[in-house]
Amino acid sequence: MVTKGDMVYAWTPDSGLLEKAECGGAVTALLKYALENKVVDAVLAIKKGSDIYDAVPTIITDPAEIGGSAGSLHCGTLLVSKLVKKYLNGARDLKLGVTVKGCDAMAFYELAKRNQVDLDNIIMIGVNCGGTVSPVPARKMITEKYGVDPNTVHKEEIDKGQFIIEYEGGHKGISIDELEEEGYGRRSNCRRCKMKIPRQADLACGNWGVIGDKAGKATFVEVCSQKGANLVDAAVKAGALEISAADPKGIAIRGKVENAMLKLGDKWRKHDFEALGMGRERLKYIMKETSRCIKCYACIEGCPICYCVECSTKKPHLVKPGEIPPNFMFHMIRFAHISDSCVNCGQCEENCPMEIPNALFMHAQQVELEKMYGFTPGINMDPPILAYAEEKTERARLDATGSDQIFDNIFKE
Ligand code: FAD
Ligand code: SF4
Ligand code: SF4
Ligand code: SF4
Ligand code: SF4
Repeated sequence: MVTKGDMVYAWTPDSGLLEKAECGGAVTALLKYALENKVVDAVLAIKKGSDIYDAVPTIITDPAEIGGSAGSLHCGTLLVSKLVKKYLNGARDLKLGVTVKGCDAMAFYELAKRNQVDLDNIIMIGVNCGGTVSPVPARKMITEKYGVDPNTVHKEEIDKGQFIIEYEGGHKGISIDELEEEGYGRRSNCRRCKMKIPRQADLACGNWGVIGDKAGKATFVEVCSQKGANLVDAAVKAGALEISAADPKGIAIRGKVENAMLKLGDKWRKHDFEALGMGRERLKYIMKETSRCIKCYACIEGCPICYCVECSTKKPHLVKPGEIPPNFMFHMIRFAHISDSCVNCGQCEENCPMEIPNALFMHAQQVELEKMYGFTPGINMDPPILAYAEEKTERARLDATGSDQIFDNIFKE
């Protein structure tokens, strides 16, 4: 009997799937079992598109198709949670199994607090995450640092601190530390990220801590909720998954690696935030960088905290229409609304056509607010700081209309 808190090695008995999977194939085996047995109506996972730089979110309802989503795409910088809100009605009318990285899981919680997704209908299969590399910088890195044509690379993996590529004619690994010292490597938000094992998901799966004869052939699964325990239990009973107790030495190693990654996250936070300066100096820097803005709204579209039907940045009395770059108020509105709850997912930076480091600016503010108020976004259902500043009637109006604007009535013509 599997229970919450257990740590197990798990693997699929299907040798074909094991071949395709990242390590033990437990994630895909569990999603397949859930779909076959109607535990979920659909699965949302990531599959390889035209090449390794092309991570495609995909909805799967036929269990026979699930194998196509096995394997890890380290150039997959998507955020699946906002897709569930936008395109699947927040999973209000279907049961969904989703593979989530730390930032996906955090965003799900922040969306759930705002009544934008129904977590009761979602099974989150978490994957540990050391970080992702954006597709365009990844191609540049492979060309310049590996001396390899990125179009010839058919597989990539991150193993023992190295980013390893397999290409026509060979394979090559370079340590991530070395890559990052030279300005290549993971996205900057990933370097600062401290959500390495997503324990707020139902299961947290990874390869850290799998040692001995199971190394590379099993998935390390930490059971984080009763929902997760029930799924593993049922899959094992049905013969869809095999498990054994995790080796205590493996558990200790996993703990050490996690701690080392957290320290690295702290190091990058210090590095990135100090470079912004403090007070007026920081403000001036942010104003200078955001002066490139073309008001395309991509930062708002991708942000999991931005969900309002009527966005304040589109109100003429706040941001003058037709002005490029927009008045700094455009960014001030985002800072005021998001900074307490930013989950550092990087979408606002990744999708910005003007390469404005939006996630860095927001994350820096979130960390300051966390120091002041002790609120960490994305880890549980605790309400955000702003919820305490809101009148109850105002909250009810926001829920009913989707407009965040307290002063709407005054300005209505
Ligand atoms: P599989 O059965 O192969 O299933 C993999 C699942 O991951 C599939 O559902 C697939 O859709 C999904 N997936 C693939 N790419 C992405 C993506 N970019 N975003 C969201 N979902 C995706 N484990 C560690 O222990 N340490 C790490 O540092 C680490 N870093 C990772 C970084 C990334 C970007 C990813 C995606 C995973 C990382 N993992 C890490 C987890 C590990 O690679 C395996 O996903 C995990 O061990 C499960 O293995 P499996 O064989 O059971 O998965
Ligand atoms: Fe992974 Fe964290 Fe980067 Fe998300 S922000 S992709 S969880 S390292
Ligand atoms: Fe401006 Fe970039 Fe946001 Fe577009 S994505 S509105 S350019 S900050
Ligand atoms: Fe993600 Fe940017 Fe929104 Fe923060 S502000 S949650 S980094 S999209
Ligand atoms: Fe985001 Fe604020 Fe616009 Fe809402 S009003 S979508 S929180 S910027």
